[in-house]
Amino acid sequence: SLDSTDSVISTESTRNTGGSSRRFRVVLLGARGVGKSAIASIFAGAADSMDSDECELYGDEVCEQTITVDGEKATVTLDEGGLSQDQCIQTGDAYLLVYSITDRSSFLQASELRISLRQHRPAHHTPIILVGNKCDLVRRREVSVTEGRACAAVFDCKFIETSAAMQHNVWPAFHGIVQQLRLRRDTKEN
Ligand code: GDP
Repeated sequence: SLDSTDSVISTESTRNTGGSSRRFRVVLLGARGVGKSAIASIFAGAADSMDSDECELYGDEVCEQTITVDGEKATVTLDEGGLSQDQCIQTGDAYLLVYSITDRSSFLQASELRISLRQHRPAHHTPIILVGNKCDLVRRREVSVTEGRACAAVFDCKFIETSAAMQHNVWPAFHGIVQQLRLRRDTKEN
């Protein structure tokens, strides 16, 4: 019908003008073994997405999902950092900087990555969330919540602890990054 044709056209034009359905490219950065793949799998499975079978794969490491955040749809392309991390640092709109709460060296690597981001993206206020993953492993904790939060304050970014294994707080992390991207977009437009 004419109605559905209209709606397709308006969706396309919204996309082209960078409106609400533009794509956000989110990159997972972090040391090996911190749980980036596990987090990406949850994203790819889209447990809370209405389009649960709609994950489009581009190569091995990149997945695209349309998720609803605050009642508004956002198309997020997640890059698992399969390319060199240096390359990822230049291509993202936003970053999830992941460490494992059971591995202090991964926490230190997250700091180094934060510094690289600042060097490569000095002109941008790039949304970043520091993600302390594996919070289910309480007995093996090496990095306290207080340390994680303090580090995020120094980094000037948000902080969240997640457990990909328990599917805990992973979606709030993605929703949080979309909210930050929108804030930045709205600030730019106004
Ligand atoms: P990557 O190298 O950063 O992609 O890390 P992976 O996603 O491959 O995870 C490394 C290992 O940690 C795997 O054995 C995962 O099953 C495990 N893992 C990942 N996230 C969690 C988590 O939240 N809790 C627990 N207990 N294990 C996890």
